[in-house]
Amino acid sequence: MRIAVVGGGITGLAAAYELNKEEGLEVYLIEKEGRLGGVIISEFIDGFLIEGGPDCLYTEKPWALELAKELGLFPDLVYPIKETRGTYIFWDKKLRKLPEGLLLVVPTDIWSFLWSDLLSPWGKIRALLEVLIPPSREEESVKDFILRRFGKEIFERIAEPLIGGIHGGDAENLSLERVLPRFKQLENKYGSVLRGLRKVLPKKRNGLPFVSFKQGMEELVRGLKGAIKDNIKTVLGKKLIDIEPLNKGFKLILNGEEIEVEGLILAIPSYEAEKILTGLFPSLKELLLKIPHSSSLVISLAFNKGDIEEIKGHGFLIPKKEGFKISAVSFSSRKFPFRAPENKILLRLFLKGDELFELDDEKILRLSLKELSRIIKIKSNPILWRLYRWPKRMAQMVVGHRKLVEEIRKEISPLKGLLIAGSSYDGIGIGDCVRSGMEMARILLRQLKMNKNQGGE
Ligand SMILES: Cc1cc2nc3c(=O)[nH]c(=O)nc-3n(C[C@H](O)[C@H](O)[C@H](O)COP(=O)(O)OP(=O)(O)OC[C@H]3O[C@@H](n4cnc5c(N)ncnc54)[C@H](O)[C@@H]3O)c2cc1C
Repeated sequence: MRIAVVGGGITGLAAAYELNKEEGLEVYLIEKEGRLGGVIISEFIDGFLIEGGPDCLYTEKPWALELAKELGLFPDLVYPIKETRGTYIFWDKKLRKLPEGLLLVVPTDIWSFLWSDLLSPWGKIRALLEVLIPPSREEESVKDFILRRFGKEIFERIAEPLIGGIHGGDAENLSLERVLPRFKQLENKYGSVLRGLRKVLPKKRNGLPFVSFKQGMEELVRGLKGAIKDNIKTVLGKKLIDIEPLNKGFKLILNGEEIEVEGLILAIPSYEAEKILTGLFPSLKELLLKIPHSSSLVISLAFNKGDIEEIKGHGFLIPKKEGFKISAVSFSSRKFPFRAPENKILLRLFLKGDELFELDDEKILRLSLKELSRIIKIKSNPILWRLYRWPKRMAQMVVGHRKLVEEIRKEISPLKGLLIAGSSYDGIGIGDCVRSGMEMARILLRQLKMNKNQGGE
Protein backbone atom coordinates (compact mmCIF):
# COMPACT_ATOMS: atom_id res chain seq x y z
CA MET A 1 0.00 0.00 0.00
CA ARG A 2 1.38 3.40 -0.97
CA ILE A 3 0.92 6.46 1.26
CA ALA A 4 2.21 10.02 0.98
CA VAL A 5 2.83 12.55 3.71
CA VAL A 6 3.13 16.04 2.28
CA GLY A 7 5.08 18.61 4.32
CA GLY A 8 8.40 17.78 5.91
CA GLY A 9 8.06 19.87 9.07
CA ILE A 10 7.88 18.21 12.48
CA THR A 11 4.24 17.18 11.87
CA GLY A 12 5.00 15.40 8.60
CA LEU A 13 8.11 13.79 10.05
CA ALA A 14 6.17 12.51 13.07
CA ALA A 15 3.47 11.11 10.75
CA ALA A 16 6.07 9.38 8.58
CA TYR A 17 7.77 7.99 11.69
CA GLU A 18 4.50 6.50 12.92
CA LEU A 19 3.70 5.01 9.50
CA ASN A 20 7.18 3.51 9.43
CA LYS A 21 6.18 1.27 12.37
CA GLU A 22 3.71 -0.56 10.10
CA GLU A 23 4.97 -3.41 7.92
CA GLY A 24 4.36 -3.54 4.16
CA LEU A 25 3.80 0.14 3.40
CA GLU A 26 5.48 2.24 0.77
CA VAL A 27 5.62 5.75 2.27
CA TYR A 28 6.66 8.98 0.55
CA LEU A 29 7.53 12.12 2.51
CA ILE A 30 7.23 15.06 0.14
CA GLU A 31 8.70 18.48 0.95
CA LYS A 32 8.85 21.53 -1.29
CA GLU A 33 12.06 22.92 0.20
CA GLY A 34 15.50 21.33 -0.02
CA ARG A 35 15.53 20.27 3.64
CA LEU A 36 13.31 18.65 6.27
CA GLY A 37 12.33 20.31 9.54
CA GLY A 38 10.09 23.19 8.43
CA VAL A 39 10.51 26.04 10.89
CA ILE A 40 12.89 24.01 13.07
CA ILE A 41 16.41 25.04 12.18
CA SER A 42 19.57 25.04 14.34
CA GLU A 43 22.80 26.41 12.90
CA PHE A 44 26.38 26.32 14.17
CA ILE A 45 28.28 29.49 13.31
CA ASP A 46 31.69 30.36 14.79
CA GLY A 47 31.04 28.33 17.92
CA PHE A 48 27.52 29.70 18.46
CA LEU A 49 24.45 27.50 18.31
CA ILE A 50 21.76 29.62 16.73
CA GLU A 51 18.10 28.62 16.70
CA GLY A 52 16.29 30.10 13.73
CA GLY A 53 12.81 28.96 14.75
CA PRO A 54 11.74 27.31 17.99
CA ASP A 55 14.30 27.16 20.79
CA CYS A 56 12.62 24.83 23.29
CA LEU A 57 10.05 22.12 23.96
CA TYR A 58 7.35 22.93 26.50
CA THR A 59 7.19 20.01 28.92
CA GLU A 60 3.50 20.59 29.62
CA LYS A 61 2.89 19.06 26.17
CA PRO A 62 4.66 15.72 26.65
CA TRP A 63 4.32 14.19 23.16
CA ALA A 64 7.57 15.52 21.69
CA LEU A 65 9.45 14.51 24.83
CA GLU A 66 8.00 11.00 24.62
CA LEU A 67 9.11 10.86 21.00
CA ALA A 68 12.60 12.08 21.95
CA LYS A 69 12.75 9.23 24.46
CA GLU A 70 11.69 6.69 21.80
CA LEU A 71 14.41 8.04 19.52
CA GLY A 72 17.05 7.65 22.23
CA LEU A 73 17.60 11.39 22.51
CA PHE A 74 17.08 11.71 26.27
CA PRO A 75 20.80 11.85 27.07
CA ASP A 76 21.02 14.87 24.78
CA LEU A 77 18.33 16.91 26.53
CA VAL A 78 19.51 20.16 28.07
CA TYR A 79 17.74 21.99 30.84
CA PRO A 80 17.46 25.71 31.56
CA ILE A 81 20.47 26.92 33.56
CA LYS A 82 19.30 27.12 37.19
CA GLU A 83 21.63 29.88 38.36
CA THR A 84 20.37 32.34 35.75
CA ARG A 85 16.67 31.47 36.00
CA GLY A 86 14.04 34.21 35.95
CA THR A 87 12.12 36.23 33.40
CA TYR A 88 11.64 39.98 33.35
CA ILE A 89 8.96 42.21 31.88
CA PHE A 90 9.85 45.63 30.48
CA TRP A 91 7.08 47.77 31.88
CA ASP A 92 7.03 51.53 32.34
CA LYS A 93 10.71 52.08 31.38
CA LYS A 94 12.07 49.39 33.68
CA LEU A 95 12.79 45.67 33.69
CA ARG A 96 10.70 44.09 36.43
CA LYS A 97 10.99 40.49 37.54
CA LEU A 98 8.06 38.16 37.02
CA PRO A 99 7.00 36.83 40.42
CA GLU A 100 8.33 33.35 41.29
CA GLY A 101 5.93 30.43 41.04
CA LEU A 102 3.75 32.00 38.39
CA LEU A 103 1.78 29.34 36.53
CA LEU A 104 1.54 31.21 33.25
CA VAL A 105 -0.47 34.09 34.67
CA VAL A 106 -1.63 32.65 37.96
CA PRO A 107 0.31 33.39 41.15
CA THR A 108 1.06 30.27 43.19
CA ASP A 109 3.75 31.83 45.41
CA ILE A 110 1.82 34.53 47.21
CA TRP A 111 4.81 36.19 48.94
CA SER A 112 6.78 36.57 45.74
CA PHE A 113 3.63 37.88 44.07
CA LEU A 114 3.01 40.46 46.80
CA TRP A 115 6.66 41.65 46.71
CA SER A 116 6.73 42.05 42.93
CA ASP A 117 7.02 45.61 41.57
CA LEU A 118 5.39 44.58 38.30
CA LEU A 119 1.84 45.20 39.53
CA SER A 120 0.33 48.02 41.56
CA PRO A 121 -1.13 47.20 45.02
CA TRP A 122 -4.62 47.40 43.49
CA GLY A 123 -3.54 45.15 40.58
CA LYS A 124 -2.44 42.50 43.10
CA ILE A 125 -5.62 42.75 45.17
CA ARG A 126 -7.73 42.56 42.02
CA ALA A 127 -5.90 39.42 40.90
CA LEU A 128 -6.41 37.73 44.28
CA LEU A 129 -10.12 38.62 44.23
CA GLU A 130 -10.34 36.04 41.44
CA VAL A 131 -11.64 33.53 43.99
CA LEU A 132 -14.84 35.60 44.29
CA ILE A 133 -15.58 35.95 40.57
CA PRO A 134 -18.45 33.69 39.44
CA PRO A 135 -17.66 31.23 36.61
CA SER A 136 -18.96 31.75 33.10
CA ARG A 137 -19.99 29.06 30.61
CA GLU A 138 -19.50 31.29 27.55
CA GLU A 139 -16.79 30.62 24.97
CA GLU A 140 -14.27 33.39 25.62
CA SER A 141 -11.03 34.81 24.32
CA VAL A 142 -7.94 34.66 26.54
CA LYS A 143 -8.21 38.41 26.98
CA ASP A 144 -11.84 38.40 28.10
CA PHE A 145 -11.22 35.54 30.50
CA ILE A 146 -8.14 37.10 32.13
CA LEU A 147 -9.76 40.54 32.33
CA ARG A 148 -12.88 39.09 33.89
CA ARG A 149 -11.12 36.86 36.40
CA PHE A 150 -7.79 38.59 37.18
CA GLY A 151 -8.11 42.19 36.02
CA LYS A 152 -6.43 44.53 33.55
CA GLU A 153 -2.93 44.63 35.04
CA ILE A 154 -2.47 40.86 34.93
CA PHE A 155 -3.60 40.87 31.32
CA GLU A 156 -1.51 43.79 30.08
CA ARG A 157 1.66 43.14 32.06
CA ILE A 158 1.79 39.34 32.24
CA ALA A 159 -0.74 37.45 30.10
CA GLU A 160 -0.41 39.50 26.92
CA PRO A 161 3.41 39.39 26.66
CA LEU A 162 3.69 35.76 27.84
CA ILE A 163 0.89 34.21 25.81
CA GLY A 164 1.34 36.56 22.86
CA GLY A 165 5.03 35.57 22.94
CA ILE A 166 4.43 31.82 22.96
CA HIS A 167 1.78 32.07 20.24
CA GLY A 168 3.58 34.70 18.19
CA GLY A 169 0.48 36.80 17.82
CA ASP A 170 -2.09 38.85 19.56
CA ALA A 171 -3.36 37.35 22.83
CA GLU A 172 -6.54 39.38 22.46
CA ASN A 173 -8.40 37.06 20.11
CA LEU A 174 -6.87 33.72 21.10
CA SER A 175 -9.35 31.09 22.19
CA LEU A 176 -9.24 30.25 25.88
CA GLU A 177 -10.26 26.63 25.35
CA ARG A 178 -7.45 26.09 22.81
CA VAL A 179 -4.71 28.08 24.51
CA LEU A 180 -5.41 27.68 28.24
CA PRO A 181 -7.78 24.70 28.40
CA ARG A 182 -6.68 23.85 31.93
CA PHE A 183 -7.78 27.23 33.27
CA LYS A 184 -11.24 26.80 31.80
CA GLN A 185 -11.50 23.32 33.33
CA LEU A 186 -10.43 24.63 36.74
CA GLU A 187 -12.96 27.45 36.56
CA ASN A 188 -15.72 25.01 35.62
CA LYS A 189 -14.82 22.49 38.31
CA TYR A 190 -13.80 24.67 41.26
CA GLY A 191 -15.45 27.99 40.40
CA SER A 192 -12.02 29.69 40.50
CA VAL A 193 -8.63 29.06 38.90
CA LEU A 194 -6.72 30.02 42.06
CA ARG A 195 -8.84 27.76 44.25
CA GLY A 196 -8.59 24.93 41.72
CA LEU A 197 -4.81 25.21 41.45
CA ARG A 198 -4.46 25.11 45.22
CA LYS A 199 -6.32 21.77 45.12
CA VAL A 200 -4.58 20.15 42.17
CA LEU A 201 -1.00 21.45 42.31
CA PRO A 202 1.43 19.16 44.11
CA LYS A 203 2.98 20.78 47.22
CA LYS A 204 6.49 20.55 45.76
CA ARG A 205 6.88 21.33 42.10
CA ASN A 206 10.24 20.65 40.57
CA GLY A 207 9.22 20.11 36.95
CA LEU A 208 11.00 22.22 34.34
CA PRO A 209 8.71 24.19 32.04
CA PHE A 210 10.92 23.78 28.95
CA VAL A 211 13.91 21.83 27.65
CA SER A 212 16.05 21.69 24.52
CA PHE A 213 18.80 19.52 23.02
CA LYS A 214 22.58 19.84 23.25
CA GLN A 215 22.85 20.39 19.50
CA GLY A 216 19.68 22.46 19.32
CA MET A 217 16.10 21.73 18.35
CA GLU A 218 17.09 20.28 15.00
CA GLU A 219 18.37 17.22 16.87
CA LEU A 220 14.76 16.05 17.01
CA VAL A 221 14.52 16.41 13.23
CA ARG A 222 17.80 14.53 12.74
CA GLY A 223 16.60 11.79 15.12
CA LEU A 224 13.43 11.34 13.08
CA LYS A 225 15.31 11.44 9.78
CA GLY A 226 17.65 8.73 11.06
CA ALA A 227 14.74 6.55 12.20
CA ILE A 228 12.90 6.66 8.86
CA LYS A 229 15.79 6.78 6.41
CA ASP A 230 15.81 3.09 5.44
CA ASN A 231 12.14 2.72 4.53
CA ILE A 232 10.59 6.10 3.81
CA LYS A 233 11.18 7.68 0.42
CA THR A 234 11.97 11.32 1.06
CA VAL A 235 11.30 13.60 -1.90
CA LEU A 236 12.83 17.05 -1.45
CA GLY A 237 12.29 20.15 -3.59
CA LYS A 238 8.92 18.92 -4.89
CA LYS A 239 5.80 20.92 -4.22
CA LEU A 240 2.35 19.36 -4.19
CA ILE A 241 0.31 21.43 -6.63
CA ASP A 242 -2.90 19.47 -7.04
CA ILE A 243 -4.60 16.17 -6.29
CA GLU A 244 -6.99 14.13 -8.43
CA PRO A 245 -9.16 11.49 -6.79
CA LEU A 246 -8.84 8.02 -8.34
CA ASN A 247 -11.02 4.94 -7.96
CA LYS A 248 -8.83 3.95 -5.06
CA GLY A 249 -6.76 6.81 -3.72
CA PHE A 250 -5.33 9.92 -5.34
CA LYS A 251 -3.00 11.11 -8.02
CA LEU A 252 -0.59 13.70 -6.60
CA ILE A 253 0.57 16.33 -9.05
CA LEU A 254 3.96 17.63 -7.98
CA ASN A 255 6.14 20.02 -9.91
CA GLY A 256 7.63 17.72 -12.53
CA GLU A 257 6.32 14.42 -11.14
CA GLU A 258 3.14 12.48 -10.44
CA ILE A 259 2.61 9.83 -7.78
CA GLU A 260 -0.43 7.63 -7.19
CA VAL A 261 -1.20 6.85 -3.56
CA GLU A 262 -3.97 5.22 -1.56
CA GLY A 263 -3.58 7.42 1.51
CA LEU A 264 -2.52 11.02 1.95
CA ILE A 265 -1.70 13.21 4.95
CA LEU A 266 -1.39 16.91 4.28
CA ALA A 267 0.97 18.23 6.97
CA ILE A 268 1.18 21.74 5.54
CA PRO A 269 -0.29 25.06 6.72
CA SER A 270 -4.04 25.45 6.10
CA TYR A 271 -3.55 28.29 3.57
CA GLU A 272 -1.31 25.95 1.52
CA ALA A 273 -3.85 23.12 1.84
CA GLU A 274 -6.51 25.52 0.56
CA LYS A 275 -4.70 25.82 -2.80
CA ILE A 276 -4.83 22.06 -3.22
CA LEU A 277 -8.19 21.13 -1.74
CA THR A 278 -10.64 23.75 -2.94
CA GLY A 279 -10.72 22.28 -6.46
CA LEU A 280 -12.23 19.16 -4.87
CA PHE A 281 -14.22 20.89 -2.13
CA PRO A 282 -15.13 24.48 -3.14
CA SER A 283 -16.79 25.04 0.24
CA LEU A 284 -13.44 24.50 1.99
CA LYS A 285 -11.86 27.65 0.60
CA GLU A 286 -13.53 30.00 3.02
CA LEU A 287 -13.10 27.65 5.99
CA LEU A 288 -9.39 27.02 5.44
CA LEU A 289 -8.65 30.70 4.90
CA LYS A 290 -10.45 31.54 8.14
CA ILE A 291 -7.51 30.21 10.19
CA PRO A 292 -5.21 33.20 10.67
CA HIS A 293 -1.40 32.88 10.78
CA SER A 294 0.92 35.48 12.25
CA SER A 295 4.30 36.53 10.89
CA SER A 296 7.45 36.83 12.96
CA LEU A 297 11.18 37.38 12.72
CA VAL A 298 13.92 35.92 14.85
CA ILE A 299 17.23 37.73 15.01
CA SER A 300 20.21 36.33 16.91
CA LEU A 301 22.94 38.73 18.02
CA ALA A 302 26.33 37.71 19.40
CA PHE A 303 28.51 40.00 21.53
CA ASN A 304 31.78 39.86 23.39
CA LYS A 305 31.16 39.67 27.13
CA GLY A 306 31.24 43.17 28.55
CA ASP A 307 29.96 44.77 25.35
CA ILE A 308 26.35 44.31 26.35
CA GLU A 309 24.65 44.64 29.70
CA GLU A 310 23.55 41.27 31.04
CA ILE A 311 20.35 40.97 32.98
CA LYS A 312 20.00 38.51 35.85
CA GLY A 313 17.53 36.08 34.22
CA HIS A 314 17.05 34.17 30.97
CA GLY A 315 15.46 37.11 29.24
CA PHE A 316 12.60 39.56 29.12
CA LEU A 317 9.29 40.20 27.42
CA ILE A 318 7.91 43.48 26.17
CA PRO A 319 4.15 44.05 26.46
CA LYS A 320 2.40 45.36 23.36
CA LYS A 321 1.45 48.56 25.17
CA GLU A 322 5.13 49.61 25.30
CA GLY A 323 5.01 50.02 21.50
CA PHE A 324 8.15 48.03 20.50
CA LYS A 325 8.55 45.77 17.47
CA ILE A 326 10.61 43.40 19.64
CA SER A 327 8.30 41.33 21.80
CA ALA A 328 10.79 39.00 23.49
CA VAL A 329 14.52 38.84 24.18
CA SER A 330 16.23 35.63 25.32
CA PHE A 331 19.79 35.55 26.54
CA SER A 332 20.28 32.18 24.82
CA SER A 333 23.73 31.73 26.37
CA ARG A 334 22.24 32.19 29.85
CA LYS A 335 19.15 30.08 29.14
CA PHE A 336 20.76 26.82 27.94
CA PRO A 337 24.30 25.43 28.04
CA PHE A 338 26.38 24.96 24.84
CA ARG A 339 24.95 28.02 23.06
CA ALA A 340 28.03 30.28 22.91
CA PRO A 341 31.82 30.08 23.34
CA GLU A 342 33.28 31.27 26.63
CA ASN A 343 33.25 35.03 27.17
CA LYS A 344 30.65 35.52 24.46
CA ILE A 345 26.97 36.31 24.78
CA LEU A 346 24.20 35.18 22.46
CA LEU A 347 20.85 36.94 22.35
CA ARG A 348 17.74 35.96 20.46
CA LEU A 349 15.14 38.60 19.67
CA PHE A 350 11.60 37.83 18.57
CA LEU A 351 9.85 40.49 16.48
CA LYS A 352 6.24 40.46 15.36
CA GLY A 353 4.38 42.16 12.52
CA ASP A 354 3.75 41.83 8.78
CA GLU A 355 5.03 45.35 8.09
CA LEU A 356 8.58 44.29 9.11
CA PHE A 357 8.77 42.07 6.03
CA GLU A 358 9.07 45.17 3.85
CA LEU A 359 12.39 46.07 5.51
CA ASP A 360 15.72 44.65 4.34
CA ASP A 361 17.92 42.68 6.75
CA GLU A 362 20.23 45.61 7.62
CA LYS A 363 17.26 47.81 8.51
CA ILE A 364 15.85 45.11 10.76
CA LEU A 365 19.23 44.78 12.48
CA ARG A 366 19.40 48.55 13.06
CA LEU A 367 15.83 48.68 14.34
CA SER A 368 16.50 45.76 16.70
CA LEU A 369 19.65 47.35 18.11
CA LYS A 370 17.94 50.71 18.51
CA GLU A 371 15.02 49.23 20.42
CA LEU A 372 17.29 46.97 22.49
CA SER A 373 19.50 49.89 23.50
CA ARG A 374 16.44 51.60 25.00
CA ILE A 375 16.31 48.75 27.51
CA ILE A 376 19.88 47.54 28.10
CA LYS A 377 23.27 49.17 27.52
CA ILE A 378 25.08 48.14 24.33
CA LYS A 379 28.72 49.26 23.94
CA SER A 380 29.50 47.92 20.48
CA ASN A 381 27.97 46.31 17.43
CA PRO A 382 27.36 42.55 17.48
CA ILE A 383 30.27 40.38 16.35
CA LEU A 384 27.80 38.19 14.48
CA TRP A 385 24.12 38.30 13.64
CA ARG A 386 21.64 36.09 11.83
CA LEU A 387 18.06 36.84 10.79
CA TYR A 388 15.25 34.38 10.06
CA ARG A 389 11.96 35.45 8.52
CA TRP A 390 8.82 33.45 9.20
CA PRO A 391 5.92 34.90 7.18
CA LYS A 392 2.55 33.47 8.25
CA ARG A 393 4.14 30.52 10.01
CA MET A 394 2.35 30.60 13.37
CA ALA A 395 -1.30 29.59 13.35
CA GLN A 396 -3.53 31.61 15.64
CA MET A 397 -6.02 29.56 17.62
CA VAL A 398 -8.68 32.27 17.74
CA VAL A 399 -12.13 31.97 19.33
CA GLY A 400 -14.14 29.37 17.39
CA HIS A 401 -11.00 27.51 16.19
CA ARG A 402 -12.01 24.09 17.51
CA LYS A 403 -15.42 24.21 15.78
CA LEU A 404 -13.87 25.49 12.57
CA VAL A 405 -11.37 22.61 12.45
CA GLU A 406 -14.15 20.12 13.17
CA GLU A 407 -16.10 21.58 10.25
CA ILE A 408 -13.10 21.36 7.92
CA ARG A 409 -12.45 17.73 8.86
CA LYS A 410 -16.13 16.90 8.38
CA GLU A 411 -16.10 18.45 4.89
CA ILE A 412 -13.20 16.31 3.72
CA SER A 413 -14.29 13.14 5.52
CA PRO A 414 -16.25 11.67 2.55
CA LEU A 415 -12.92 11.32 0.75
CA LYS A 416 -11.53 8.33 2.64
CA GLY A 417 -7.77 8.20 2.91
CA LEU A 418 -7.22 11.96 3.03
CA LEU A 419 -6.31 13.66 6.31
CA ILE A 420 -4.98 17.02 7.44
CA ALA A 421 -2.50 17.50 10.28
CA GLY A 422 -0.28 20.10 11.87
CA SER A 423 -0.06 23.39 13.64
CA SER A 424 -2.89 25.09 11.73
CA TYR A 425 -5.38 22.63 13.18
CA ASP A 426 -4.11 20.89 16.29
CA GLY A 427 -1.96 23.39 18.22
CA ILE A 428 1.28 25.21 17.51
CA GLY A 429 3.61 23.69 20.10
CA ILE A 430 6.07 21.12 18.78
CA GLY A 431 4.43 18.64 21.16
CA ASP A 432 1.02 19.37 19.63
CA CYS A 433 2.43 18.88 16.12
CA VAL A 434 4.05 15.56 17.03
CA ARG A 435 0.78 14.35 18.51
CA SER A 436 -1.18 15.55 15.48
CA GLY A 437 1.14 13.87 12.95
CA MET A 438 1.23 10.56 14.81
CA GLU A 439 -2.50 10.51 15.49
CA MET A 440 -3.39 11.23 11.87
CA ALA A 441 -1.03 8.45 10.76
CA ARG A 442 -2.86 5.99 13.02
CA ILE A 443 -6.29 7.19 11.84
CA LEU A 444 -5.20 6.86 8.21
CA LEU A 445 -4.02 3.29 8.75
CA ARG A 446 -7.34 2.39 10.38
CA GLN A 447 -9.28 3.96 7.49
CA LEU A 448 -7.24 2.18 4.84
CA LYS A 449 -7.52 -1.17 6.60
CA MET A 450 -11.27 -0.72 6.88
CA ASN A 451 -11.54 0.18 3.17
CA LYS A 452 -9.53 -2.89 2.30
CA ASN A 453 -11.75 -5.15 4.41
CA GLN A 454 -14.89 -3.64 2.90
CA GLY A 455 -13.78 -3.53 -0.73
CA GLY A 456 -11.31 -6.41 -0.98
CA GLU A 457 -8.03 -5.96 -2.85
C1 LIG B 1 9.80 31.68 15.12
C2 LIG B 1 9.08 30.53 15.75
C3 LIG B 1 9.39 30.16 17.06
C4 LIG B 1 8.73 29.09 17.66
N1 LIG B 1 9.08 28.70 18.92
C5 LIG B 1 8.56 27.56 19.45
C6 LIG B 1 9.09 27.00 20.65
O1 LIG B 1 10.06 27.52 21.23
N2 LIG B 1 8.54 25.84 21.12
C7 LIG B 1 7.49 25.21 20.47
O2 LIG B 1 7.01 24.18 20.95
N3 LIG B 1 6.98 25.72 19.31
C8 LIG B 1 7.51 26.85 18.78
N4 LIG B 1 7.06 27.32 17.57
C9 LIG B 1 5.96 26.61 16.90
C10 LIG B 1 6.41 25.32 16.22
O3 LIG B 1 7.78 25.38 15.90
C11 LIG B 1 5.61 25.09 14.94
O4 LIG B 1 4.23 25.21 15.21
C12 LIG B 1 5.88 23.71 14.34
O5 LIG B 1 7.26 23.47 14.19
C13 LIG B 1 5.15 23.61 13.01
O6 LIG B 1 5.41 22.37 12.43
P1 LIG B 1 4.60 21.91 11.14
O7 LIG B 1 5.25 20.67 10.64
O8 LIG B 1 3.14 21.81 11.45
O9 LIG B 1 4.74 23.11 10.10
P2 LIG B 1 6.02 23.66 9.33
O10 LIG B 1 7.23 23.61 10.15
O11 LIG B 1 5.58 24.97 8.76
O12 LIG B 1 6.21 22.62 8.14
C14 LIG B 1 5.37 22.56 7.03
C15 LIG B 1 6.21 22.10 5.85
O13 LIG B 1 5.37 21.92 4.72
C16 LIG B 1 6.07 22.35 3.56
N5 LIG B 1 5.07 22.63 2.53
C17 LIG B 1 4.14 23.60 2.52
N6 LIG B 1 3.38 23.52 1.40
C18 LIG B 1 3.83 22.45 0.69
C19 LIG B 1 3.44 21.85 -0.54
N7 LIG B 1 2.42 22.32 -1.27
N8 LIG B 1 4.13 20.77 -0.98
C20 LIG B 1 5.17 20.26 -0.25
N9 LIG B 1 5.58 20.80 0.93
C21 LIG B 1 4.91 21.88 1.40
C22 LIG B 1 6.84 23.56 4.05
O14 LIG B 1 7.92 23.87 3.20
C23 LIG B 1 7.26 23.12 5.45
O15 LIG B 1 8.53 22.50 5.45
C24 LIG B 1 7.71 28.39 16.94
C25 LIG B 1 7.40 28.77 15.62
C26 LIG B 1 8.08 29.83 15.02
C27 LIG B 1 7.75 30.21 13.60
